[in-house]
Amino acid sequence: MLSYKAPIADIKFLIEDVFKYYDHYKKYEEFEEATPDLVDAILHECAKFSENELLPLYQSGDKEGCHFDNGKVTTPKGFKEAYQQYIDGGWSALSHPLAHGGQGLPPSLGMVQSEMTGTANWSWAMYPGLSHGAMNTINTHGNDKQKELYLERLIQGSWTGTMCLTEPQCGTDLGQVKTKAEPNGDGTYNITGTKIFISAGEHDLTENIIHIVLARLPDAPQGTRGISLFIVPKIKAEQDGTLGESNHVTCGSIEEKMGIKASATAVLNFDNAVGELIGPENKGLECMFTFMNTARIGTALQGVCSSELAFQNSLIYAKERLSMRSLTGKKYPEQVADPIIVHPDVRKMLMTQKVISEGGRAMIYYTAKIVDDISMAKSEQERKTADDRLGFITPILKAFLTELGSESANHGLQIFGGHGYIKEWGMEQIVRDARISTLYEGTTGIQALDLLGRKILLTRGKSLNDFSKEVLSFCKNKSLLSNNLHKRKMNRFIWPLSKAIANWQQYSMRLGFKAQSNRDVVGSASVDFLMYSGYVVMAYFWAQMAQSAYEKLEGEVDNRDFYRAKIKSAEFYFERMLPRTKSLAATMMADPKTLMQLDQDLMSFL
Ligand SMILES: Cc1cc2nc3c(=O)[nH]c(=O)nc-3n(C[C@H](O)[C@H](O)[C@H](O)COP(=O)(O)OP(=O)(O)OC[C@H]3O[C@@H](n4cnc5c(N)ncnc54)[C@H](O)[C@@H]3O)c2cc1C
Repeated sequence: MLSYKAPIADIKFLIEDVFKYYDHYKKYEEFEEATPDLVDAILHECAKFSENELLPLYQSGDKEGCHFDNGKVTTPKGFKEAYQQYIDGGWSALSHPLAHGGQGLPPSLGMVQSEMTGTANWSWAMYPGLSHGAMNTINTHGNDKQKELYLERLIQGSWTGTMCLTEPQCGTDLGQVKTKAEPNGDGTYNITGTKIFISAGEHDLTENIIHIVLARLPDAPQGTRGISLFIVPKIKAEQDGTLGESNHVTCGSIEEKMGIKASATAVLNFDNAVGELIGPENKGLECMFTFMNTARIGTALQGVCSSELAFQNSLIYAKERLSMRSLTGKKYPEQVADPIIVHPDVRKMLMTQKVISEGGRAMIYYTAKIVDDISMAKSEQERKTADDRLGFITPILKAFLTELGSESANHGLQIFGGHGYIKEWGMEQIVRDARISTLYEGTTGIQALDLLGRKILLTRGKSLNDFSKEVLSFCKNKSLLSNNLHKRKMNRFIWPLSKAIANWQQYSMRLGFKAQSNRDVVGSASVDFLMYSGYVVMAYFWAQMAQSAYEKLEGEVDNRDFYRAKIKSAEFYFERMLPRTKSLAATMMADPKTLMQLDQDLMSFL
């Protein structure tokens, strides 16, 4: 049986010491309720719910899976009751607007909540997770009537939401979407088409499901410029929320998958289902970006969740499993053998998991502050500045953290040896569940093209320069530390970080020049470039965490070991993870020729 304890000490360290959430909340009077007492209570209650209600359903949900019968989907035993508890606890409303029945707390707190529920049970957490994206989309682009009818019920949790983009012929290339929207002349549209792979597309948790659907109006331009966005309920509803007849949205089947088996992935057939336009005509994909950015950060979080769950269980096992003796002599002579945690190779896997989980958490919590800023922006300029920062960091978070989350889950399986491969221990489930995260919400390859192509080369490096300035200003500012020894020790992090930032800028410029004569340079370098970027960004947060730990050690604190452990983890990161950038630099700068020169007909001689 897997175990999970919410890492509250680490979460509080980030919220209070590293990212100073309470100062940040004071900028906005809307967040005045988010006081340390309230936040502490939320953390502890959410930890209890995640540990006691969701974790016990993690392995049973995987074993049982979802049931499909004649268009109806039943979620695994216990899921419905846990969802009811979630609603009763007010969790679905936590970080949504007061005006529509939410609790008005900051989105960053919603992210912390999602981390706990998602680590305890990712499949379960996908049902409310998809709803959050639907709520954000309706809140941003919906009209008053749509907000009153749909948003309020989504916030209460009595209805859930989905995101319907993918069709059989296209997932990445949404310009190929074929689903049609025919105007009825009364402001509504008849939606017809098939969507596949729709998470939470059908289930038994709520009485209604609100689908956010990409479709094409008659005579719409070809490609992505001709796509509009629609709200299509599973069951038609009056403006007061009274449910009416079925809306001709049927679930044809659910997928049999490698992992996240308790999350229903539905084929949905829309057959003249009545929908309402949301946002302007033919601007559906732009509106959907609101949904997609939230969802992408949510998916990045899955990397942290997988890593944390794998790490916590690997650590317990590595302290108990006995095998051979330490190379430097017996550590536990009274036992028949030493526990495997004494072996450097096992240590390397554990430390890698630890720095991925804690470094990834820091990356997410930093980004969550930007999401707060966007939600509270008072002018278009403020919103744009925050949105540009979010747009730059999102592909890095999504692809890097999910790739590393998968790596960490695999280390977990390895630490358990053969037992990792056996279902009973749960480690193989984490590997299977984590694997989807590098695929949905845009594959790693697509995030990488977005980062290098759109976010860096098309802006002539502006977003990278802005981010680099922030990092370099942190590197110059050691005045926060009063102890000279601590200042000197910080140089172990500051120098390699400054150098990595300078190299990052140089490599992006060199790739930009090379791409002018050969566009394949971008596609050939992009994934390595993104992973390079991820290691540099994570180094920035490990350096910040080390600095905050030194600051705490300069004062009177109880838990000194916690801060010392942080500094040692930062040392591990800088010595054993950041150097991965060297091989990534070599491969990303390699000529695309070796990728492209072999004729596709000569790739195999079968
Ligand atoms: C469990 C699960 C849940 C999902 N949930 C949802 C959901 O809720 N809603 C929804 O709409 N969709 C959902 N999806 C769909 C998912 O988002 C897509 O599968 C994903 O975006 C990839 O699209 P695809 O499968 O069509 O692959 P393709 O687009 O066919 O891509 C195949 C491969 O080619 C690469 N590739 C494609 N184009 C390029 C390019 N231009 N340059 C470089 N490489 C390229 C890709 O990176 C990938 O490696 C889900 C999928 C799964 C499996």
